[in-house]
Amino acid sequence: MADISKIHTISDLAAFCKRKGFVFPSAEIYGGFSGFFDYGPLGIELKENIKKDWWKTFVQSRQDVIGIDGSAITNPKVLEASGHVAGFNDLLVDCKKCKFRERADHLIEDLLKIPAEHLSAKQIQKLIEKHKIKCPKCKGPLSEPKQYNTMFKTYVGPVEQDSSVAYLRPETAQSIFSNFELIQKSSRAQLPFGIAQIGKAFRNEISPRDFLFRMREFEQMELEFFTHPKKINDCPFYNDIQTSSVNMLSAEMQNKGKNHKAMTIKSAVIKKIIKNRWHAYWLYSQYQWFLNLGINPKNLRIREHKKEELAHYAKACFDLEYKFPFGWKELQGMADRGQFDLSQHGKYSGKEITFFDQAKQEHVVPYVAAEPSQGLDRAFLAFLIDAYTVEKDRVVLKLNPKLAPIKIAIFPLVNKDKLPEVAMKIYNLLKDKYPIFYDTSGSIGRRYRRMDESGTPFCLTIDHDTLKDKAVTVRHRDSMKQKRVKIKDLETYFLKLI
Ligand SMILES: [Zn+2]
Repeated sequence: MADISKIHTISDLAAFCKRKGFVFPSAEIYGGFSGFFDYGPLGIELKENIKKDWWKTFVQSRQDVIGIDGSAITNPKVLEASGHVAGFNDLLVDCKKCKFRERADHLIEDLLKIPAEHLSAKQIQKLIEKHKIKCPKCKGPLSEPKQYNTMFKTYVGPVEQDSSVAYLRPETAQSIFSNFELIQKSSRAQLPFGIAQIGKAFRNEISPRDFLFRMREFEQMELEFFTHPKKINDCPFYNDIQTSSVNMLSAEMQNKGKNHKAMTIKSAVIKKIIKNRWHAYWLYSQYQWFLNLGINPKNLRIREHKKEELAHYAKACFDLEYKFPFGWKELQGMADRGQFDLSQHGKYSGKEITFFDQAKQEHVVPYVAAEPSQGLDRAFLAFLIDAYTVEKDRVVLKLNPKLAPIKIAIFPLVNKDKLPEVAMKIYNLLKDKYPIFYDTSGSIGRRYRRMDESGTPFCLTIDHDTLKDKAVTVRHRDSMKQKRVKIKDLETYFLKLI
């Protein structure tokens, strides 16, 4: 029943998140702050659970991926080498009359309903003239599109001068590249291997929009997977996944105006939609991670970038897209970055970054065959949208128990007759294993509804029979079915379910 049409707009979801304590506008008492959000008591738990599962799946439970945590402000030379200082630009138009500002590509996308992120200033200017596009606020004339660097600038040290300029990182990836040798040598990792990082990134968006979708401060979960440049197809996991199927929208299908369709990984590789096997493997793994945590397959697809969309560093790129209430949009980007970044940092730092291939006795520049780069806040949004369900007389968040902020709620039926004492004993029995909410206020029906909206998968009620049969009623969130379980069996009961 999880149906995204149940959320009419993204602002309905924002209102729900505020009411329940998932997410608040930042500093709301001062009117909020556009593009910034604060996670509340339930939000922080959901967000941490998403991070934990991603880290456990892609780092801790693998032999071939290691993690780091880089600084958010780094030596500005790193961002010069990566191309961000010169080229991390969006195009901006402003109204000559009322000074309204908007990202030029968003204006085109909104008005003409065509993808415009990859268009040049010239192409956008042509479209503005052709379609006589005016200011959406006052119908005044628009300026020509101008380049605008979206990195946040700051000064390091007490003097604000050109030589002390630095930037808040616009992506976490760069500290993986600039530290590559230190990481590889200290961990003695051998190709192929990946380096992962979860951390904040910052982009000074001209017009943040769609709640958590486009923020100025956000969090990324990124992984750079390095291979020997001649072994980008030597993926030992490929055979296990090649017959699995994904929703695929290739560049060619987009050019022909077609919709995505189910396709096996193998057939995407044979048709050369996916160009190397490691890339195929990582696309599938990330796609499957979302499905394992409860995303409806109907709402997920892999879209190949068209040639004109490719970033300067990418040989190929795909987006994992989710069907948001405002359309199919990027959840995760995954480029084949080739040797671009390590070569650039080699050039700019004057210290070549290589890996020594023992077998061939030669130095090679490792090849980034895949770069799963996930916006954590977007994943948070997608899990919430998919879980949010309106039923006849309740709103329920059908979150995967792994992600649920609170796993179990404990209710003594009445706040007397020794029931709270028994309930407290059960609370103490389980509290070190699961986040638990203890609630004595209001009718049981009301307590259930509150927990449904928080996504809590199980509620335990302690009633007068408990004193006799040493059992409690366990109520399941999704089915609302109830089961009598002996207190002594509770631990093993939940172990199986959570
Ligand atoms: Zn205007």
